[in-house]
Amino acid sequence: MISAPQKLFLFQLIAHLSLVPMIIYASFEEYLIGFIVYFFTGCFGMTMTYHRLLSHRSWQAPRWFWYFGTLCAVFGLTGSPIAWAAVHREHHRFSDTDKDPHCPERIGFLKAQWGSMFCPVKVKYVTDLLKDRFLLFIHKHYFKINMVWALICFLIEPFAVVYLYLFPAFLLWNMGSFIITLTHMFGYEVEGTPDKSKNIFFLGYLLWGEGWHANHHKDPNNPVFSNRWWELDLGGVFIRIISRN
Ligand SMILES: [Zn+2]
Ligand SMILES: [Zn+2]
Repeated sequence: MISAPQKLFLFQLIAHLSLVPMIIYASFEEYLIGFIVYFFTGCFGMTMTYHRLLSHRSWQAPRWFWYFGTLCAVFGLTGSPIAWAAVHREHHRFSDTDKDPHCPERIGFLKAQWGSMFCPVKVKYVTDLLKDRFLLFIHKHYFKINMVWALICFLIEPFAVVYLYLFPAFLLWNMGSFIITLTHMFGYEVEGTPDKSKNIFFLGYLLWGEGWHANHHKDPNNPVFSNRWWELDLGGVFIRIISRN
């Protein structure tokens, strides 16, 4: 029986291979659509929902956004919300120590960048999320839901599976993994950060605020990651807008 991490690895392997047909066949419009989908899965999904809302509970989202943001992240192929939050909470608890689940210094860059789906999921870190029936449903049926989404893309047109689903998933995996690898290795430091986390300019912009990682480690309960005017945190901007309504 194939395990959930093995399945995710397989899905992501296919997502990475989608680069070949993208480079050969994709038009400018299809690249553009792929990047727009990456914005949805990365901004609304990964950073606003998986990270700030579910892992840190650092902002109050209306229920519609709870569903919408979670689904955006699910189609980004970075794992179930419960698994993602469990590993991430453990990371904050032990960042840059021997117990950090994906410390690049400890397990190596390659394993942290492409193998973090194999980090053990410890349910003791997510007992609150396990009480949410929606999240539990997503967790149990994560790959079936992804197969349905792949089928919908296919019915739009067969090549849409590549530019609407696999290519954005490839982008999100690598950008997200750069946060757990590069921002604990390179970048500029922030005074008062309790570990080796750093800010990286281009990741701040390309992953909707996630690159201001040292700011976030310094104050993990703050849903806004930017500290200076030029540290654009698009996820934080949307959180402010949604929280106001
Ligand atoms: Zn965090
Ligand atoms: Zn970190």
